[in-house]
Amino acid sequence: MHSIDQSAAEAVSALTVTLPDGTTIPRLGQGTWHMAEQPQKRNDEIASLRLGIEYGMTLIDTAEMYAGGRSESLLGEAVSGVARDRLFLVSKVYPHNAGKARIFKSCEDSLRRLKTEALDLYLLHWRGSVPLEETVWCMEELIRQGKILRWGVSNFGLGDMEELWGVPGGRGCQTNQVLYHLGSRGVEFDLLPWMAQRKMPLMAYCPLAQAGRLKRDLLSDPAVLKVAQRHGASPAQILLAFTLRSEAIFPVPKAGVPSHVADNAKAAAIRLDADDLAALDSAFPAPRRKVPLDIQ
Ligand code: NAP
Repeated sequence: MHSIDQSAAEAVSALTVTLPDGTTIPRLGQGTWHMAEQPQKRNDEIASLRLGIEYGMTLIDTAEMYAGGRSESLLGEAVSGVARDRLFLVSKVYPHNAGKARIFKSCEDSLRRLKTEALDLYLLHWRGSVPLEETVWCMEELIRQGKILRWGVSNFGLGDMEELWGVPGGRGCQTNQVLYHLGSRGVEFDLLPWMAQRKMPLMAYCPLAQAGRLKRDLLSDPAVLKVAQRHGASPAQILLAFTLRSEAIFPVPKAGVPSHVADNAKAAAIRLDADDLAALDSAFPAPRRKVPLDIQ
């Protein structure tokens, strides 16, 4: 049993973001990629997700892809006993499953593994060969069937979003989940402003830059360490505070050990000031021209 730092929990609860449909959700969530891959980590992973929920990080991101569905099952176990209306469960459909022939089974399988009646948000994991128009129709049909409450996309660049906007029903999209961290700021140039104009917040994956192909060692970067020292904080907390500086961004850090979850929750109370941001900007400048979307 891990005790909760009440002031951190209050700071997490105070941070919210509103989706285009008016739903208000926590701005600091939790990720689950790589969970359920190693049996010896299972207890820690479940304990971490539960601790995160205690802290108010009740927005939890998963996908049918993660560990071949076992991450969803692990999450289903972690949240059993938690009142469903306290949670905001997000899952993602593979692009090759995102058409009329397969999406309904994919969604049903995710619901079964998560032991829930409906997903709060269902995302197209990345663009594939199924026409956007068909995927959007399917998402709207899933809403009509009560299987999902809303939908969004992931790994969409500006051109993809513009295309989506032209598709019937495409403007029902609630978010775009993309890679975003201090060392990967390309979306600030075009995608983020485009989404902000439409009051659509950006869901940031890999906010700690710690996983996947584009992993970067920002946790030992001198500029990050200096700001961390100024705040008496950990480098991870500074990276999260950087993404949380904008009300238009909601990150989903993944932590598989409870001490990391507690560390991450405390980031909600950190406000980076102009000096901090200037120091981080000078080490990791914001983009001055369009750059391709970083994809994990
Ligand atoms: P991340 O959250 O940036 O980094 C996760 C890593 O950071 C884990 O190795 C974790 O270690 C470590 N960590 C967590 N908290 C820490 C702390 N306070 N101090 C030091 N290390 C810490 O990367 P991610 O998992 O790739 O991204 C987050 C989530 O975004 C994923 O889990 C997934 O839900 C989603 N995602 C989506 C896509 C997409 O294509 N849509 C792609 C990638 C990720 P421990 O596990 O040991 O705690």
